[in-house]
Amino acid sequence: MVREETASLALYRQWRPQTFAGVVGQEHVTRTLRNALAKGKVVHAYLFAGPRGTGKTSTARILAKALNCVAGPAPEPCNACSQCVAITAGSALDVLELDAASRRGIDEVRELRERVKLAPVAARYKVYIIDEAHMLTTEAANALLKTLEEPPPGVVFVLATTEPHRMPATILSRCQRFDFHRLQPGPIRAHLEQVLGELPGRVTPAALELIARAAEGSMRDALSILDQVLSLGEGEVDEDTVADLLGKVRLGALARMVELLREGDAAGALRLILEVDAAGKDTGFFIRDLLALLREELLRTVGQGEPVPPHLVRCLEEFSRAMEETRTAAIKTLPLELAVVKALSDGPAPHRAGSGEESPLQRIKVAWPDILQAVKNARPVTFGYLSRVEPAAVEGQCLKVAPGDAATGEILIQQEHRAVVEQVLSRFFGGKWKLEIGG
Ligand SMILES: [Zn+2]
Repeated sequence: MVREETASLALYRQWRPQTFAGVVGQEHVTRTLRNALAKGKVVHAYLFAGPRGTGKTSTARILAKALNCVAGPAPEPCNACSQCVAITAGSALDVLELDAASRRGIDEVRELRERVKLAPVAARYKVYIIDEAHMLTTEAANALLKTLEEPPPGVVFVLATTEPHRMPATILSRCQRFDFHRLQPGPIRAHLEQVLGELPGRVTPAALELIARAAEGSMRDALSILDQVLSLGEGEVDEDTVADLLGKVRLGALARMVELLREGDAAGALRLILEVDAAGKDTGFFIRDLLALLREELLRTVGQGEPVPPHLVRCLEEFSRAMEETRTAAIKTLPLELAVVKALSDGPAPHRAGSGEESPLQRIKVAWPDILQAVKNARPVTFGYLSRVEPAAVEGQCLKVAPGDAATGEILIQQEHRAVVEQVLSRFFGGKWKLEIGG
């Protein structure tokens, strides 16, 4: 996993949001800040708490600009005036950033206590941004507290931290707190698509999906992974390229696993676990990614007011346990194998109910709503056409669909749409699928 600041961050810097509207996935924070700015309700200390790479420091800089913008204080900075430009460039005299993690802040805070009494040099507000504020030494934290107790006018502190529980309560109580959330894969993927729109080089939807998931809620990690796969060279980046880079399981195997669980196919699931293990992939990673996918399915089902399939709940319970046990297991795959057997042994899953062996066409018909959804996620336009056809026949790994009208069939068979559908089919059922019109 990409964890270090030394990892490639060119894209991250280039795509750092410069307005509140540009901050992805933290609308609950940016909305409140914009409203406060619009009403002139500025407090002198903010706490930005949340996981790394979720936009805390970027938001702090945008706040500094909105406060000091020549046209402000405004709900958004203009990003064109001398103040905005200087703050973006990191050269503004009145906006100071201090990294408590690297220097523990003793000298800085001591100096700060003196400097803070002085009026801003050129700007309306002096803004102090303290990164990793929980790392401040006791001495530095006490000095900061003294300043917060009697804040000089025109001074705003933004304390950013990944570990708010380690902050002294005396400091917390003097800050207006904002909690930044881990980003969902959806918004991350959408942002990556936007980034790619202005870059040469092609990344497949499945590869983007894998990057969005691997980033674990951090936009910084997502952009860093994207940077790395793009730097691998010319040509198309597919999910194998990304998976190789991350040393992780292909999304294809994950999607197949979800499908096998849905069908209640324990034997197939056990075979797949062996395959994944034989490919040298980490079982712990596999379970974690599997849990993330199943949880999404659970949330989607509940969100749509549909009944939750019993196998889904059992899988989540059993796999959570298996993930714990995998760490100490003598045979790494055993906890997962047992979990599969336990989760699926309590009765047939809904899709299997009443039927014997399903034909390939039946399998596709059963999965059709999910296939449509996956295509919709990958490319809404293609979904528009695909939703107007029906699965008609399966020959080997070729799906024939029957369109309601000839025009739909002609468009759907064009490379740009066909490729999306074929990719989704391959992801769902493994192998290399083809799409044809007919049947
Ligand atoms: Zn401005």
